[in-house]
Amino acid sequence: MNVPIELKVKPKYITQYKNKYPLISKDAILNPDVLEREGSIVHLVGDNNQFVAKGYYGKQNKGIGWVLTHKKGERIDFPFFKTKISEAINKRQAFYEDESTNAFRVFNGEGDGIGGLTIDCFAGYYLINWYSEGIYTFKDQVIRVLDELIKYQAIYEKKRFDTKGKYINDDDFVKGMRGEFPVIVKENGMNYAVHLNDGAMVGIFLDQRDVREAISIKYADGKKVLNTFSYTGAFSVAAALGGAEKTTSIDLAKRSKSKTIEQFSVNGIDYEKQDIIVMDVFDYFKYATRHNMKFDMVILDPPSFARSKKRTFSAAKNYPELIKDSISITEKNGIIIASTNNSSFGMKKFKGFVADAFREMNTKYAILEEFSLPEDFHVDRNFPQGNYLKVLVVRKTD
Ligand code: SAH
Repeated sequence: MNVPIELKVKPKYITQYKNKYPLISKDAILNPDVLEREGSIVHLVGDNNQFVAKGYYGKQNKGIGWVLTHKKGERIDFPFFKTKISEAINKRQAFYEDESTNAFRVFNGEGDGIGGLTIDCFAGYYLINWYSEGIYTFKDQVIRVLDELIKYQAIYEKKRFDTKGKYINDDDFVKGMRGEFPVIVKENGMNYAVHLNDGAMVGIFLDQRDVREAISIKYADGKKVLNTFSYTGAFSVAAALGGAEKTTSIDLAKRSKSKTIEQFSVNGIDYEKQDIIVMDVFDYFKYATRHNMKFDMVILDPPSFARSKKRTFSAAKNYPELIKDSISITEKNGIIIASTNNSSFGMKKFKGFVADAFREMNTKYAILEEFSLPEDFHVDRNFPQGNYLKVLVVRKTD
């Protein structure tokens, strides 16, 4: 048995860890240099070395590890992983039983008690995301737990960390029966094509499920819809199935076109009746404005940061401009759906962006509805940053 490494917490951070904040940040630790091997078990200790919490060492973009327990005697072993994962599965029973949806998050990192690890289910194919080399050292235990707790077609994985500066992305298959991709998953009766062995992104973002449903059921009927930063066009599909008159999908990535055709096709929608354009969104706004084009619904779902040839976009800085551009091509009484996954600001600030943009455009608006993460993306109440998704449905009222 390895002796746990003692990490001395700086006095001003002690209360935060006593209050169950889960992320171990380098700034909070007096002696981070004692850390050597990722996956090592660490004890956070206070003055006089008194025990505060136990976790593991694993470097991510934020933090150097996660707290796993506040019980000194609890071991981080197979039963630990089995308990956490089985509690998570129990919380998703409604999803396992729902016949119209078979793609959902089974385990959501710190929200389910183990930061750095997520597990998604796509029609019986399971996808594990490992966010550090440290959490990856527990792979055998996690796979054994899945073997004992669930029936699966296959398990795939994404190692979302660097090893010696190289992103590992050869074969993501772990075990079971290799899938034939795309696998077609169901979400509230809609179909989505998913590829588990083709890069970090699989074709659909599960956290937008409730937004896709709302678009389809409440907002799209009879509308001209512009879907910007469209990726595989998942929002366009929801809109088309919801009766949109026409959808226009804009994404800079060349691959997005064939991927969007695929998503329409697995839903029996004639993609030739939709517009799918490979273009910089900001150029498209200029084009649409110049041609006096107007839409009944504009969907904005940019990445937190994006660099194209001409410009860098940062959600925290440039979102108001994006909304302003959208206001000018949205019909009166039209709808703007503004989404961001940037965890560096909260809903209040995001609403402020909307307010600023409409004020500067001298236009009135009403917020009709707001969304955050869906139920299966369980959030740790001591780590509100984990609730990164913010979506506003806004009506332009004049
Ligand atoms: N809305 C999508 C997810 C968007 S992911 C969905 O629901 O599935 C972000 C996408 O933005 C990526 O596909 C990326 O290629 C695209 N992107 C980034 N910068 C862009 C730009 N300047 N113009 C158009 N697309 C851009």
